[in-house]
Amino acid sequence: MIEVRSIRKSFGSLEVLKGIDLDISKGEVVSIVGPSGAGKTTLLQIMGTLDKPDSGSVRLDGVAMESLDRKEMADFRNRRIGFVFQFHQLLPEFTALENVMIPAYIGRASTSEAKARAQELLDFMGLSDRASHKPNELSGGEKQRVAVARALVNHPSVVFADEPSGSLDTKNKGELHQLFFDLRERFGQTFVIVTHDDGLARLTDRTIHMKDGLITDDKNISL
Ligand code: ATP
Repeated sequence: MIEVRSIRKSFGSLEVLKGIDLDISKGEVVSIVGPSGAGKTTLLQIMGTLDKPDSGSVRLDGVAMESLDRKEMADFRNRRIGFVFQFHQLLPEFTALENVMIPAYIGRASTSEAKARAQELLDFMGLSDRASHKPNELSGGEKQRVAVARALVNHPSVVFADEPSGSLDTKNKGELHQLFFDLRERFGQTFVIVTHDDGLARLTDRTIHMKDGLITDDKNISL
């Protein structure tokens, strides 16, 4: 479902990705780990179509990203890709339910459809009684779960998460990590997670180690 071939990327004279090849199958929960500056976020952003490689290719669900124009790419991203970042980035003036509904609206779902999907996800995450709260009325763990619900509302085939539990305490970290696996069971999504959290990396099906712009190890623990 994700095919990365010979990706290279530099920022000025700094070569950040030096030729990355990677295949990730549907429904895998994969972690990407490695020291600061290894290129993890850059790779995640390129796989998620938020940035472009200097050379090489990315195919998602069989579609070559380089073959899409800007509008097609934006449409593909909205329908097929979900993102979760370290800081939830919820819109403060909207309720939890509305925050989750927004990408569904952008994807041209009707109000009733967007609301039904958002409510289902919040229920699944044990947040039914928080749906009408605004972000400043939610705990850090709740905000991050709302952000995960928002990433999933269009039923993307893949969710890219960058340090999703980086701002959470131990209890909320554990709950968020469990949620990824529960969501995979329920909706069949693929998750690709950049993390410094060894606890999370140990839980995932597969851990990809990066260093100096290269993949140095790729362990599939289910094999
Ligand atoms: P961390 O674990 O600290 O988040 P990382 O492995 O995710 O690190 P990247 O964020 O991919 O690393 O960054 C790799 C290198 O590229 C770093 O040296 C960073 O400073 C540099 N870099 C990233 N984005 C840009 C940019 N837009 N412009 C210039 N340099 C950048």
